Amino acid sequence: MRIVLVGPPGAGKGTQAAYLAKNLSIPHISTGDLFRANISQGTDLGKQARAYMDAGQLVPDEVTIGMAKDRMAQPDAVNGFLLDGFPRNVGQAEALDEMLRSASLKLDAVLDLEVPEDEVVKRIAGRRICRNDSAHVFHVTYNPPETEGVCDACGGELYQRDDDSEETVRTRLEVYHTQTEPIIDYYRAQGLVVTISALGKVTDVTERAMEALKSSDEG
Ligand code: AMP
Repeated sequence: MRIVLVGPPGAGKGTQAAYLAKNLSIPHISTGDLFRANISQGTDLGKQARAYMDAGQLVPDEVTIGMAKDRMAQPDAVNGFLLDGFPRNVGQAEALDEMLRSASLKLDAVLDLEVPEDEVVKRIAGRRICRNDSAHVFHVTYNPPETEGVCDACGGELYQRDDDSEETVRTRLEVYHTQTEPIIDYYRAQGLVVTISALGKVTDVTERAMEALKSSDEG
C-alpha cells in the first residue's frame, strides 16, 4: 500500500506511522526524521534545513522533494510506503503524483488524523523523544517514562525537540492551516481521504486507522 498520513503537529503521526508501517509491512518514511538525521550528521542538506525547522517553517520544496524522492526510490519501498510529513503543501503533492504517475503507480489512501487545537499544544509542549529511535515517544503527563528522561523501550536519552517550544508550535500550526491543510481538499477530489479522530489511547487510534484503511481498500 502507498499511504500518506496528514494531521497537525502533535496529532501523533509519528507514533501511529510506526505502528501502522509495522502492521502493513511497509517502510515508515518521515521527512522530519530524514531532516533531523541530516542535521545530526552535519550534512549540507541538514545545514540548509535547520534554520527553517527551528523557525517552524517549511524547508523549501527544492530541498524536500528531492530528498523524499530519493528515499522512496530505495529498494525497501518498492511495494509501498507510509509517508509521514510529506507532502506538506500542494506543490509537493503534485510532485508526488507526478512521480507515481511516471512509474504507473498511485496512492491508495490519505489518512487524516483529526485532533482539536488546544489538545495539540498540550501534547507537543510535554512531548519527549528518544535519541535512539524517534518512534519511541513519551509525554511528561500523558505517557511518562518509568524513569524521568530515560526511554522505557531502549534506555536511550529522552529529549525535547528544538521546534517543540510553545512559540514555534504556534507557527507550525499556522503553517499547517495555510499550507498543508489544502492538500486534504486536493486529495479529497481524488477520493483518497479517510478521516479519523486521533483522540484517545494510542492503541485505539491505531485500531481505528487500520479499520479505516481496510474499508478504504475495499471501497
Ligand atoms: P515533523 O517531524 O514532520 O514535525 O517535521 C519537522 C520540521 O521539518 C517541519 O516543521 C519542517 O520544518 C520540516 N519538514 C518536515 N517535512 C517537511 C516537508 N515535507 N516539507 C517542508 N518541510 C518539512
